[in-house]
Amino acid sequence: MALVVVGSVAYDGVETPHGSVDRMLGGAATYISLAASYFTAVKLVAVVGDDFAAEDAGLLASRGIDLTGLERVPGGKTFFWSGVYSADMNDRATLRTDLNVFADFNPKLPESYRGEPYLLLGNIQPALQESVRAQMQRPRLAGGDTMNYWIADFREELLQTLKGWDFLLINDSEARLLSGERNLRRAASRIRETGPRTLVVKRGEYGAVLFRGDGHFMAPGYLLEDVFDPTGAGDCFAGGFMGYLAGRGVAIDGAEIDFADLRRAVIYGSVMGSFCCERFGVDRFRELTRAEIEARYQEFQACTGF
Ligand code: AMP
Repeated sequence: MALVVVGSVAYDGVETPHGSVDRMLGGAATYISLAASYFTAVKLVAVVGDDFAAEDAGLLASRGIDLTGLERVPGGKTFFWSGVYSADMNDRATLRTDLNVFADFNPKLPESYRGEPYLLLGNIQPALQESVRAQMQRPRLAGGDTMNYWIADFREELLQTLKGWDFLLINDSEARLLSGERNLRRAASRIRETGPRTLVVKRGEYGAVLFRGDGHFMAPGYLLEDVFDPTGAGDCFAGGFMGYLAGRGVAIDGAEIDFADLRRAVIYGSVMGSFCCERFGVDRFRELTRAEIEARYQEFQACTGF
């Protein structure tokens, strides 16, 4: 039983107060897949050009990620994004977005993906997210991420897409933009009325809040000593969250998801987001072990229990 992940596979240029890298492996689907791969089998759907390095495909394959759905466009160039972070790293400005082969991305799920039970849709155009959802036979749990650009300029399309989702992960400013409510609790209720019954609102270094049914659960962010590069942290949160639920084999149909499982998934999400920030790009995932993940999960328990 695998998790199907759809989104960008990219090359990124990133500048933070700790240094800068002109070009390195990135993309939302890359981060999601790497984080989720510690918990469950992952099948990736994305597009790259023929400049996509064998070494980068090798890193994904080394984590057991199925690359059957990674389309290569001959003569095409891989999506490129670059950004620069503020001194406290809470804000970032995009310097360049070259869509390249991503401009014509029209995801087609390989036959071997369609029967899988779990689907995580990275931040791409809502109509494409819906088309992927429709290609899955009967996912047990489907949802994903979006961003302010789609909320502001593709609102109707996004609302249509959200109707088919079990869960949505977004950050707090996006939750306010999507709902038109400043108050986070009210914003969450409004959003959950649009479709996704489970909502996770990410609050950067301050953690995340999970809303489900009448209840909510608040997880703090992990207090890192040094944040080198926050790029991909939100995607790694999503990968840890959904990867954990997929690994547990949870189902939504018929029975309710156990709220305790969802709470643990939020903590694994926070754990994976925190590891992501400890090195530039995906570097932390080159040697991260499951034992380190468990140790940080225990630390979370120790510093939040009362
Ligand atoms: P995050 O820091 O979690 O927002 O994710 C950053 C990643 O998203 C980077 O690796 C970028 O390559 C990727 N990215 C940036 N802009 C876009 C976009 N418009 N569509 C898809 N992926 C993007």
